[in-house]
Amino acid sequence: MLIPYGRQNISQADIDAVIAVLRSDFLTQGPVVPEFERTVSEYCKSKYGVAVNSATSALHLACLALGVGPGDRVWTTPITFVASSNCALYCGAEVDFVDIDPRTYNMSPAALAAKLESAEKNGTLPKVVVPVHLCGQSCEMEAIHALSLQYGFRIIEDASHAIGGSYKGEPIGNCRFSDIAIFSFHPVKIVTTGEGGMAVTNDHELAASMQRLRSHGITRDPAEMTTPSEGPWFYQQIDLGFNYRMTDMQAALGISQFQRLDEFVKQRHALASSYNSLLESCPVTVPWQHPDCHSSFHLYVVQIHPAEMKASQREVFERLRSHGIMVNLHYIPVYRHPYYRSHGHATTSLPEAERYYSQALTLPLYPGLEAHQQREVVEHMKSPLGHQTIF
Ligand SMILES: *Cc1c(COP(=O)(O)O)cnc(C)c1O
Repeated sequence: MLIPYGRQNISQADIDAVIAVLRSDFLTQGPVVPEFERTVSEYCKSKYGVAVNSATSALHLACLALGVGPGDRVWTTPITFVASSNCALYCGAEVDFVDIDPRTYNMSPAALAAKLESAEKNGTLPKVVVPVHLCGQSCEMEAIHALSLQYGFRIIEDASHAIGGSYKGEPIGNCRFSDIAIFSFHPVKIVTTGEGGMAVTNDHELAASMQRLRSHGITRDPAEMTTPSEGPWFYQQIDLGFNYRMTDMQAALGISQFQRLDEFVKQRHALASSYNSLLESCPVTVPWQHPDCHSSFHLYVVQIHPAEMKASQREVFERLRSHGIMVNLHYIPVYRHPYYRSHGHATTSLPEAERYYSQALTLPLYPGLEAHQQREVVEHMKSPLGHQTIF
């Protein structure tokens, strides 16, 4: 049987919640989406939540709401899913990458400070920075926020991995140190709506803008209209928006999943500490946890040391896969993709990101993963060491 790297956890209550919507009057644009938005924003202590059909859409709308356009620069980390930087390209902006911290693998505030200092001299400061909370562990947001005040950029937290985590004792998504935070509800993430995402913010204007943009740029609010209402049918398109709406079936699944969010995160922590102890005798670096952070543990990434392991990263990866253990690598540095190579990043290479990429391996981690499966994963990681002692 295959052991995937992540998978959803669906209960009977989740199924019943979706069926209840299917039997109701509204499959979309009904009352359940706003209820899900309240559920998420209350949980993470932000004022507004804007539900959309994916985190990718949420990132796109967040960039647009912050006015990102041609001629602007957006910076993010190279160790992320391509969506974190594609959002800027959708808006016609340029993307650049800030190297990572070797302990957290998140965007390094020191590397960011250094890059900002030279960008200020060259007149190439970014309009927006997108820190990504890799594996569910928050970036050092206080430091990044302090730099935003000094250099005048805005912040979108890509918290796709991080719902249920906290930073300095407060929930990720409260936007204390950012303008907007976005979440993903893809089935491999912490909680799921099938496909889905949400942008959270404390800024009324940003929320209103994202609400319009997810539905064609249309408003029904007289306060946002350019002329008085012409009748009860009246609406105006005041921006060029999209159809990025979430359905009520998805929102119902999200609300139901949220009941178990804290339990999921607790289970992920228990599984992570089991891995930590099982891997004590294995020459790998286990995930380092910043004292300011309580991770949601979306991913459990180890750094393998090929010399001591007597096997290359690729050999370990292939060996685990050949035993049905679907390890993964999060992520290939974004600038290495051909599209980025041919769009301004032909020679981009960041030393810490490259080193991370050459050693990283994501082990399976999801609620429902069993102790014997974790032992099996670790046994197969160690097996050439076993042979070493025999022969
Ligand atoms: C999954 C993910 C996304 C995109 O999420 P979707 O909901 O699939 O669009 C964006 N950023 C990061 C870091 C992700 O892991």
